[in-house]
Amino acid sequence: MKDASPAAPLEIFLSDYTPPAYLVDTVELTFKLHPTATRVLSRIAFRPNPDTADRTFYLHGEQLKLISATIDGQDANAKVTDLGLTAIAPDAPFIFEAEVEISPSTNTALEGLYMSNGMYCTQCEAEGFRKITYYPDRPDVMAVFSVTIEGEETVKLSNGNDLGDGKWHDPWPKPAYLFALVAGDLVNHPDTFTTMSGKEVELNIWVRPGDLNKCAFGMDALKRSMAWDEKVYGREYDLDLFNIVAVDDFNMGAMENKGLNIFNSSAVLASPETSTDANFERIEAIIAHEYFHNWTGNRITCRDWFQLCLKEGLTVYRDSQFTSDERSPAVKRIEDVIALRARQFREDNGPLAHPVRPTSFVEINNFYTATVYEKGAEVIGMLKTLIGDDAYYKGCDLYFTRHDGQACTIEDWLACFEEVTGRDLAQFKLWYTQAGTPRVSVKEAWKDGTYTLTFTQHTPPTPGQDVKDPKVIPIAVGLLNEAGEEIQATRICEVTDDVHAFRFTGLDALPIASINRGFSAPIILQQDQDNLTRAFLLANDTDPFNKWEAGRALARDVMIRMVTEDAAPDQAYLDALLAVARDDTLDPAFKALVFSLPSGDDIAQALFDGGVTPDPTKIYLTAQTLSQSIAQAMQDTLPRIYAQMQVDGPFSPDADAAGKRAWGNVALSLLTRLDGGAQARTQFEGADNMTQQLSALGALLRAEVGEDASKAFYAQWKEDRLVIDKWFAMQVSFAKLDAAPAVAEALTAHPDFTLTNPNRFRAVFGALAGNTAGFHSPDGSGYALLADWLIKLDAKNPQTAARMSTAFETWTRYDADRQGMMRDALERIKAAPNLSGDLSEMVTRILNA
Ligand SMILES: [Zn+2]
Repeated sequence: MKDASPAAPLEIFLSDYTPPAYLVDTVELTFKLHPTATRVLSRIAFRPNPDTADRTFYLHGEQLKLISATIDGQDANAKVTDLGLTAIAPDAPFIFEAEVEISPSTNTALEGLYMSNGMYCTQCEAEGFRKITYYPDRPDVMAVFSVTIEGEETVKLSNGNDLGDGKWHDPWPKPAYLFALVAGDLVNHPDTFTTMSGKEVELNIWVRPGDLNKCAFGMDALKRSMAWDEKVYGREYDLDLFNIVAVDDFNMGAMENKGLNIFNSSAVLASPETSTDANFERIEAIIAHEYFHNWTGNRITCRDWFQLCLKEGLTVYRDSQFTSDERSPAVKRIEDVIALRARQFREDNGPLAHPVRPTSFVEINNFYTATVYEKGAEVIGMLKTLIGDDAYYKGCDLYFTRHDGQACTIEDWLACFEEVTGRDLAQFKLWYTQAGTPRVSVKEAWKDGTYTLTFTQHTPPTPGQDVKDPKVIPIAVGLLNEAGEEIQATRICEVTDDVHAFRFTGLDALPIASINRGFSAPIILQQDQDNLTRAFLLANDTDPFNKWEAGRALARDVMIRMVTEDAAPDQAYLDALLAVARDDTLDPAFKALVFSLPSGDDIAQALFDGGVTPDPTKIYLTAQTLSQSIAQAMQDTLPRIYAQMQVDGPFSPDADAAGKRAWGNVALSLLTRLDGGAQARTQFEGADNMTQQLSALGALLRAEVGEDASKAFYAQWKEDRLVIDKWFAMQVSFAKLDAAPAVAEALTAHPDFTLTNPNRFRAVFGALAGNTAGFHSPDGSGYALLADWLIKLDAKNPQTAARMSTAFETWTRYDADRQGMMRDALERIKAAPNLSGDLSEMVTRILNA
């Protein structure tokens, strides 16, 4: 029997949470693999949950062909819908057995069990396990899994320990979203790690035969991650085996399945010839992130998906600590804030704004957002700042001890820190429950040796939340004197009220304040600061983040005046840049970050916040003019910087070498504006690593002299999917002015373009969305093209289509013509036949702005 599916998508609320009626002790699964007719046999030991009187027996299940279902060996008389199965179950422990059939090769949504280039793999977070078999697919049902895999493939992997012959046993109870299976003709890069208690763990990275030479860096990053988590958090690995598998077709970056991490090949495969320095850093961070989930996510998981930040915010925070320790803390912090502003602030200021812990959703896949991840990590950082390092690690220890093996909530997490500090964290919890980026304005006063900073906080309304209570905001402040000496070391001002003043006494003269050092709180700081003060802080601030921030504020102000007043490029700014370039005490990576101009999207938001309707074309031309002026102002210095930053000897992806390449390539990009591309062509032709080759190609494309280099690049790398992704992206990213839509459209006709590989789709359309002037081309062709392709992609892969629709989230920022064309594009998507729930929820929310 088959009921009709519900007419409208169902909105789910945090406040409706109820415990599961039945718990699961053990699960035995047998997979008889076949591309179009895999049989999955399950034997599940249920028992009634003593914490509830509810005895509704309901199992999730989607796109399954039910062959049989029994309870204690008798026909279960199961009733099946498109979403699940119900039956009458006893009020006592029982065994449920089922056999279902699924078709991995036609599963293009890449959720559940699917095939990627002939290899079987799974993605179950958040709700993919229900596409494998009938099960209570919710994170608060944790069970011990045993798995048998039958098939011709030479390698058959699942979670936990290898019992041989395709049989696996995971002794740690886990929710179904952490289940994984891989089968294919794979080869491994093996190693071992000895844990702090002396246990030897076998490690493997599994890849296709041609990729074995790209595993060494990932393996090294894994071992460093394991050692770091022991040293910093006291967390030891808990199985005899840890496997990583590289998969080409994957919706996410990677997945932390217990003992069997599955990675997008772009997030694990690395070699100097094919990977840039940025790739190496990202791979190291993602390997660390997934490994750290073993404790923050797997041993302690989320009670329900509203608590996603419990594992993600914390684990992003932990991986950022790891990268800071392994590389440069200042550079990592600046990079994180650039990304936070580009993605999370943008989200928090638009129609998709939601709290770090959302209160409702239609499709949970749409809440794997910058807010849950990156703002979630900022919240952990603020907690550590407010209570101090000792109390932070004590609270974490308590959390690990008290909640090991449990599915938890944000309340459980915060209670551990309240207990170790005696501090009430009720106001701090608002960071989890209130959406929107706080605006904090600051006024200074000076009288009789006392300097007063008065902070006023305000968080604008967001969808469903009109009024906000004041949050506790830790603002790090330091003071400098006119000579540039630090006269007040960094002090944390805890802003707790709407208006809150702090006094600094016993000063000889009016100081210069450095506020929100290290970006201690994820706020928009509104400060009346002239460009002289900014240039002073850029030259003198002892806090490296705020030193960079002063330069960024200066650049933003210069660009805004160029856009709104047709001002000439500001000489004071050019002088300040020259001083940074000549300062040999500064880290080259830091200099490269000071020289990167705010993005087109960043300037558009700043203009909008200032009451000006942004014109993406004009912003693009301004950035060009300013870059040209910087190149001319530095023309005597650039060749020397370029020469000094050349790295000799064998390639190393370490922070020092990468920093030199970054700064050298900033110089190259500016030089290319002066020399017609001569130096860039030389670098392109002689490069022995991807960072140098791709930077040279970028410089040539930006200067519109890169056509030959682009052809040569394709010919050299056409067999390497990951490098060809870069080739697709570069052409769209560096397309001039409003040419990007035409370039992207032409690329969709290229034989290497495909809808089945999310990396390829993101390469073209992620680059289009990121090219502000191109996407917002005045004729609307960028909007129309993206709408066409989102509709096409949605039919195959709703998750990725929904995520890419955020390109439209800033639509209300622009002029009436552009708004109208974007609204038309969104309405057209919404009206497409058979639109997925994923994409439908997103366009509906965006349109409700
Ligand atoms: Zn994660």
